[in-house]
Amino acid sequence: MIGLMQSQQLLISSLMDFAERHHGDAEIVSRRVEGDIHRTNYRQIAARSKQVAHGLDHMGLGFGDRVATLAWNGYRHLELYFGVSGSGRVLHTLNPRLHPEQIVWIANHAQDQVLCFDMSFLPIVQAVHANCSTIKHYVALCDANKLPTDTGIPGLQSYEAWIGAHSTDYHWPEFDEDSASSMCYTSGTTGNPKGVLYSHRSTLLHAFAGALPDALNISARDCILPVVPMFHVNAWGLPYCAAMTGCKLVFPGPSMDGKSIFELMESEGVNFAAGVPTVWQMLLGYLQSNQRRFSTLKRTVIGGAACPPAMMQSFQVDYGVEVLHAWGMTEMSPLGTVCTLKNKHAKLDAAQQMQVRLKQGRGIFGVDMKIVDDNRAELPWDGKTSGDLLVKGPWVVSEYFGSDGASPLVDGWFPTGDVATIDADGYMQITDRSKDVIKSGGEWISSIDVENIAMAHPGVAMAACIGMKHPKWDERPIIVVVTKPGVTLTRDEVLAFFVGKTAKWQVPDDVVFVDAIPLGGTGKMQKSKLRDMLRDYRLPGA
Ligand code: AMP
Repeated sequence: MIGLMQSQQLLISSLMDFAERHHGDAEIVSRRVEGDIHRTNYRQIAARSKQVAHGLDHMGLGFGDRVATLAWNGYRHLELYFGVSGSGRVLHTLNPRLHPEQIVWIANHAQDQVLCFDMSFLPIVQAVHANCSTIKHYVALCDANKLPTDTGIPGLQSYEAWIGAHSTDYHWPEFDEDSASSMCYTSGTTGNPKGVLYSHRSTLLHAFAGALPDALNISARDCILPVVPMFHVNAWGLPYCAAMTGCKLVFPGPSMDGKSIFELMESEGVNFAAGVPTVWQMLLGYLQSNQRRFSTLKRTVIGGAACPPAMMQSFQVDYGVEVLHAWGMTEMSPLGTVCTLKNKHAKLDAAQQMQVRLKQGRGIFGVDMKIVDDNRAELPWDGKTSGDLLVKGPWVVSEYFGSDGASPLVDGWFPTGDVATIDADGYMQITDRSKDVIKSGGEWISSIDVENIAMAHPGVAMAACIGMKHPKWDERPIIVVVTKPGVTLTRDEVLAFFVGKTAKWQVPDDVVFVDAIPLGGTGKMQKSKLRDMLRDYRLPGA
């Protein structure tokens, strides 16, 4: 017997319809590439995303055709999020921090037809356009009078002139909710980047789950600043959660430094922000050096890389900001786990609660997890045994774009490449990336644990632990350190800091000081590049 309820496809356009009707005057504030602050609301975003849809019709784009963006977080990018997907095309967010050759490879692989870009990325577009064989239309996200004339980019038009030529009245098409809505390439350390193709259904289910109280806890009363870029995994789904709840959105544009982010938070009343640890490091650094305090920020989600305990401590204790540690990946839309406490944790003291908060968190409904050994046998949830982490769920990838049906799944589960423990309460803790874990004399050393200790040193700005070949132990850890400005540290001082904080054999064999640790396109430490940088390095005594 079939249920007698209305059958309605879960489509991204419905989010914008809802936001327009129920929260039309809720604000969207953006710091623009031009440097000024721009204010709009859901009503105007809805109207302009409909103009985008007309604009794409006018270009002759078909259902499922790819529209690429090279853009910061801002209102025009938001209009493209909804106008492109809502009209049945696929929004392909390109990462401007990638090497131009990678951008060309990805745009060609995705067969992008249109490229919309912020003016700050004009030099990239000038460098790549001749090799992007499928792109027929170039749109600069600017006013008509800001469009330079001699760019060399064929047919370049301004966004405002493009959408301005069209009506704000548009009937969103209805289609199968499993249709592709958007895509994002993940650049692994080996092989070519892989395209993850999200659907309308996966995006809506992810938004429902992401907004839940035990996930990101988003409501109409929030004012959210996503520092996490809209070019990386849909800014963790926040644009969709925002439209679903009608919260205020504040976009930082190109200005991610501590001062700019802090000032925007204060002037707009931001109570919730989201970003990777390296960005928060800059913000905390600014607060500490300038003796500033947040007056409105109440909670922040930190993910993309492990949140160092010192950072968690600083937010929670020094500034009274609740940290939600979260874990996920491009292949998971990205939310997998979020760390919120259970009732039973209320009895614990602050230090014990911190131990729970430092874990990557509990699976949210919709994501199933398990850890397995080398023979794929499931391991116990005891908080001690670690194994390869596998996931499944309706917003987890089943196959990469253009991979001709090759499945990355193992018995129906997606192998994340992370190594983790899960405790009896379901809290998952990443112990390492499987390729970063250090094998010393047959025992595993978690590079994250070593980094967390180093990061707690008051003179350390950033630290990365990598394994180095050792004739006796196979591999031994070293710690690569960037000191805070004006601080001088010695090898012995750093190593002495480890004493009593970890087992002796887990203490790094050496300290290497560098000016900067290479960061990838999404602000995470790039250990593969670091290993390249240190290829001539030899362990003391090895
Ligand atoms: P990406 O697809 O680029 O977002 O990278 C996903 C990977 O980032 C995951 O597989 C993890 O290795 C890492 N990651 C994400 N969040 C966390 C976290 N909270 N703690 C540790 N690693 C994380």
